[in-house]
Amino acid sequence: MTISRTTEEYQRFLNDTSWYTHTNEHNAPELMYLTLGLAGESGEFADAVKKIIRVSGTNDDESFKALLLEKGGEEKLLEELGDVLWYLTKLADFLGTSTEDLMVENTYKLYNRLNDRNQFPEGTLKWPFTNPFLTYDKVKEKLDVCVDEKV
Ligand SMILES: [Mg+2]
Repeated sequence: MTISRTTEEYQRFLNDTSWYTHTNEHNAPELMYLTLGLAGESGEFADAVKKIIRVSGTNDDESFKALLLEKGGEEKLLEELGDVLWYLTKLADFLGTSTEDLMVENTYKLYNRLNDRNQFPEGTLKWPFTNPFLTYDKVKEKLDVCVDEKV
């Protein structure tokens, strides 16, 4: 289903350059390593947010913006988010998919959930993808096939 080469090339780059024990073995130790890494990097992101909030407080917009934009807070958060992406991408590969396919599948889930809740007047919630290979019907068909294959 993937349409962008960037995500594929990033995923391939990670697979070609990963050096940890059990790299690309697709076994329980690798799953544990990647899961702990994702949790760890998510924690580093949360810690960076905590450090910003520790100084700025939660209601001080001027201080918050200064820490975020002028004192390196945003750079630190983006660095940690990139580390999260590394583990997320490796876990997606471990599970036989790509981050891009995850985006499409997650969008499909959320789109259906929001439609089921009737929070949007009929017809106002638009399927977001304009790529002709990612129409709602094509994604639904693809995901239905995937579900059938798992049974
Ligand atoms: Mg980090």
